[in-house]
Amino acid sequence: MIVLAVELRQFASEVHSHLPHHLLAVRQDRAGERATPIFRDEHQMCVTVPHCVSATSDKPNLIHDTKSYRRGVLKRYRCRAYPTGEQHRALSRLFGCCRVVFNDALAARESARRAGRPIPSKGELSAALTAAKATPERAWLAEVSSVPLQQSLADLHRAYANFFDSHTGKRKGRKVGAPRFKRRTHRQSARFTRNAGFGVLEPGAGAGFVRLPKIGRVRYESSRPLPADPSSVTVIREADGRHYVSFVVDEPAPAVVPASPARAAGVDVGLTDLATIVYDDGTREKIDNPRWLRSKERGLARAQRAYSRTMKGSKNRDKARRKVAAAHRKVRETRLDHHHKLALRLVRENQAVALEGLSVAGLARTRLAKSVHDAGWSTLRRLIEEKAARYGAVVHTISQWEPTSQVCAGCGVRDGKKPLDVRVWVCSSCGLVLDRDYNAAVNVMLAAGLVERVNACGGSVRRVLACADPVKQEPAEQILPDGEAA
Ligand SMILES: [Zn+2]
Repeated sequence: MIVLAVELRQFASEVHSHLPHHLLAVRQDRAGERATPIFRDEHQMCVTVPHCVSATSDKPNLIHDTKSYRRGVLKRYRCRAYPTGEQHRALSRLFGCCRVVFNDALAARESARRAGRPIPSKGELSAALTAAKATPERAWLAEVSSVPLQQSLADLHRAYANFFDSHTGKRKGRKVGAPRFKRRTHRQSARFTRNAGFGVLEPGAGAGFVRLPKIGRVRYESSRPLPADPSSVTVIREADGRHYVSFVVDEPAPAVVPASPARAAGVDVGLTDLATIVYDDGTREKIDNPRWLRSKERGLARAQRAYSRTMKGSKNRDKARRKVAAAHRKVRETRLDHHHKLALRLVRENQAVALEGLSVAGLARTRLAKSVHDAGWSTLRRLIEEKAARYGAVVHTISQWEPTSQVCAGCGVRDGKKPLDVRVWVCSSCGLVLDRDYNAAVNVMLAAGLVERVNACGGSVRRVLACADPVKQEPAEQILPDGEAA
């Protein structure tokens, strides 16, 4: 089971994000945005609880607002579901109906706009839906629960609202496009709110059941019980054919975990090494970049080729499509797991974490785009920020314009730009041999205002942390005895 915070409004753009699968896996959100690729839950925009701060909020300033913090936290619990054959068919029917309602409403709006007629309102579309159920062409809409259909309409309205808000500048972040038609081959979802009358039963031992109107009792995997009654449940069928149920739970704010040990970390992210970290106690480390996508690229290409060779509309095409989606899911999940672990370790072991503000969107327009997306810096940052709020650590983000890779951390002299392939350089002023990444990480820490903490550990600690060749403490060469066997 995956627990994630619901950041209302931030997710709202996702309603029309029907990116092709090959883009989904590497989709990286730009700076200042918080939507993650796998958790694109379009249903979230309908939960409108003002001033609700997620447990893992990425807005630390809100955390200090005790008034809103005490109000409780909306959290999303997502679990893998295992519908039976009959339920599978019933869900297909439901997903189909939701999709048709969404597409019909979108078409109605668009044709009205093109013809210069007034745009149909929410109430008019809802009335049209009721009327459609009485017509022979859409009579099957009456066979499924009506709540998910109404939620589909609500999603469309939210999508339009986001589009207009983004257009007028009311909505921050990446520009949101106009809603697009939903497709059968993409991810499907249907949301049940409380008035649909769904029920949750968790007998324990990892099993959970959710009773859905006109679907039945669907089993899901529950690794921990829901902390409270969910306000909504969304059934999702991913492009790879897997089912999930996603609950929105309003739970009390978590108790703040005791502060981490008094250590500070400066983090520099990169492509050669995913993260280069220096600590104010004089230690440092480099976290390898596993290049998840790169390592699986051949397999992905093979799956994609097989898909493109299948006949349109065939069963084999469906199978091949699911294989492509599954391959992407694996890449995505491995990457996310790695990020979660690294972020958790950072905030648990440090009281303060200094990060560099990066323009991922800018870098993603360069030749390094694929690698930049694959590294997933924005997700890593978001996870660090979310977890820091929960573990009582402070995250300092420094400006992206800070010349961290140009300044010598030892003497502070700015040495000018360095091409990316320069991993080690010599300071022209003090002669210190600097490691590009370690030096940058020290500069990140200094720029974050953690200077005293670094200096408190002794004047030379900066030089030791930043230099390419730290005081060598390698064990003396072991001379093996002559007749050593095996
Ligand atoms: Zn220097």
